[in-house]
Amino acid sequence: MQVYALDENRLISTLRAEKGADYRCPECLATIRLRSGDVRQSHFFHLKTNSACRQSQKGLIHLRLQRYVKYLFDDDAEMEKAFPSIGRIADIAAVKSYKIVEIQYSPMTLEEAKARCHDYESLGYTMIWILHDHTFNKKKVRPVEQFLRTKTCYFSNMDVEGNGIIYDQLEQIDHKKRILVGPKQPVNLRISKPLPPFRWPRELAQRAQTWPLCHEGDLLALALKGKPLLKPIPPQKLLLRLKDAYVTGLYQALERSSR
Ligand SMILES: [Zn+2]
Repeated sequence: MQVYALDENRLISTLRAEKGADYRCPECLATIRLRSGDVRQSHFFHLKTNSACRQSQKGLIHLRLQRYVKYLFDDDAEMEKAFPSIGRIADIAAVKSYKIVEIQYSPMTLEEAKARCHDYESLGYTMIWILHDHTFNKKKVRPVEQFLRTKTCYFSNMDVEGNGIIYDQLEQIDHKKRILVGPKQPVNLRISKPLPPFRWPRELAQRAQTWPLCHEGDLLALALKGKPLLKPIPPQKLLLRLKDAYVTGLYQALERSSR
């Protein structure tokens, strides 16, 4: 869901745009117009769908996450920040602290992920990735996901209403399959620090070599605080455990209501 457009050469938001007027997409420069209604969130749409333009594919969940991250970063965050020298528009750019947050809801290729990281890193930015459960954190792990998890990278289960969290998890991947999964550890992007020298637990040794930062609540931050890592278990069992909890909850609710 696109909320910014170019009017002449100025970036404007949906709040200032007029219905029926022609604007240009900041990414592909195609003609876009405002769509607004009572129920739907106002947004710009491409007159001709363009599968090559990332802006035209962003949905409401993407926007919810983007706004949430902007809120977390406070006044150091710009949404849809353009970087003309590399021809890219960042979901969120924290200019003072040199961080880029990219939210990925739909599939992407390994080449695109590498190119995006390379471009922003060439400007001195640290990338933080948020991969949505819609496409990622499934049993099958595609090469792009394996690559992104070597960067500072979390998952999110946020829904269209904006309910959900950004989380980290301990996992074990074998032959492109996620064979063990730990519980979801909520991450607070507001509080981060560079990784100090530390004797990392074996499960995090690899990550500690490639992640420049940790955030409050993630596995590295938990290890630094001396918290034991909760053991990952096979995903099927996790599902059973959730089902158990659900059934128990249901019975408890029934019991309460019959009192
Ligand atoms: Zn476009």
